Amino acid sequence: MKCRHCGSPLCLPFVDLGFAPPSNAYLTVDQLEQPELTFPLKVMVCEQCWLVQTKDYAQADDLFDKDYAYFSSTSKSWLEHAELFCEMAIGRFGLTTNSHVIEIASNDGYLLRNFVAASIACLGIEPTQSTSEAAAKLGIPQCQAFFGQQLAQQLKHDGKSADLIVANNVLAHVPDINDFCQGVATILKPQGVVSFEFPHLLNLIEQKQFDTIYHEHFSYLSLGTVQAILAEQGLEVFDVEALTTHGGSLRIFAAHKGAQSISASVELLQAKENTFGLFRRETYLGFQTEIEQIKNDFLAFLLEAKSKGQSVAAYGAAAKGNTLLNFAGVRPDLVSYVVDAAPSKQGKFLPGSHIPILPPSALREAPPDVLIILPWNIADEIATQNQPLRAHGTQLAVVMPEIKLV
Ligand SMILES: [Zn+2]
Repeated sequence: MKCRHCGSPLCLPFVDLGFAPPSNAYLTVDQLEQPELTFPLKVMVCEQCWLVQTKDYAQADDLFDKDYAYFSSTSKSWLEHAELFCEMAIGRFGLTTNSHVIEIASNDGYLLRNFVAASIACLGIEPTQSTSEAAAKLGIPQCQAFFGQQLAQQLKHDGKSADLIVANNVLAHVPDINDFCQGVATILKPQGVVSFEFPHLLNLIEQKQFDTIYHEHFSYLSLGTVQAILAEQGLEVFDVEALTTHGGSLRIFAAHKGAQSISASVELLQAKENTFGLFRRETYLGFQTEIEQIKNDFLAFLLEAKSKGQSVAAYGAAAKGNTLLNFAGVRPDLVSYVVDAAPSKQGKFLPGSHIPILPPSALREAPPDVLIILPWNIADEIATQNQPLRAHGTQLAVVMPEIKLV
């Protein structure tokens, strides 16, 4: 096993979540009758560049890329986050109607729609047909492909370099992070700016967010490691900001080396990561024991509910929930169904656990005694939406970082 970035041998284990199927491989009723493909879900730490990464299964990378039934625009808070980002970027980087914005992994146009509204030319790069077609309907030019150096060279050749590249919540999901960053450097204009957002490794460790680990999430990133990866492509981080999204993310801005003056925030965050111990072996050693405790407490909670004859459902058929449910070995006898607002998932079954996915209206038709909110990062939004259930005696609970009623 070699590091995805620097090629050093990987010897330091961080997390072992057993075997898990690709987290977005939702099953149809017919597929329940067939064998299901699973892979070990193990995360290793590179002690050379400190890139924390899932173990690489060369034959499986293609499979893990086949997401996404997820449409970003289904989350209201996510749309607001995107709108605020665009307003900020237009003002701060002086974007005009002569500028060109490229978003990598542009999904259904949840973000670029704001640039269209501001009459700023843009291009969405998105490999998934269904989401890309939705974005095209909003008038956003599309390039339906995976991004990397090869595509970047072609875009540059076609005169489609960018003043602003938005690559928010994609860096952690690319199998070949070096090729991806090389492509970014290729299509970034000399004075251009690139924005990356990614869940911060420091939060994952500190708040025990092990359910953010799944096969399609290849890298668990720190500022320090991203700086090293970008530096190899001649890019330099000039600003960094901590965000509350995804349980604590970093937004970093980078540019070609020397093109922008470097904010004091960069050094401050580097110091925070150093003090926390992200670049020390000991920081990674006790994590497995801690998350096994969370698993055991979750199972104890479900078994107690079962012994009391209570019905338990869950909210949110997404990767996070799949990791937790599969690691804990939960099956439909303990959580009878999960609801999700995405019509593309309804009527299917969660991979691994085989828990049926129903529309949210199922909760109103037969309120469960307990509703487990799986996406803890938007637990408040979901709790508010499901407030009326409380009148029927439904208790709402979250599992991470500890099981509790909300
Ligand atoms: Zn490495």
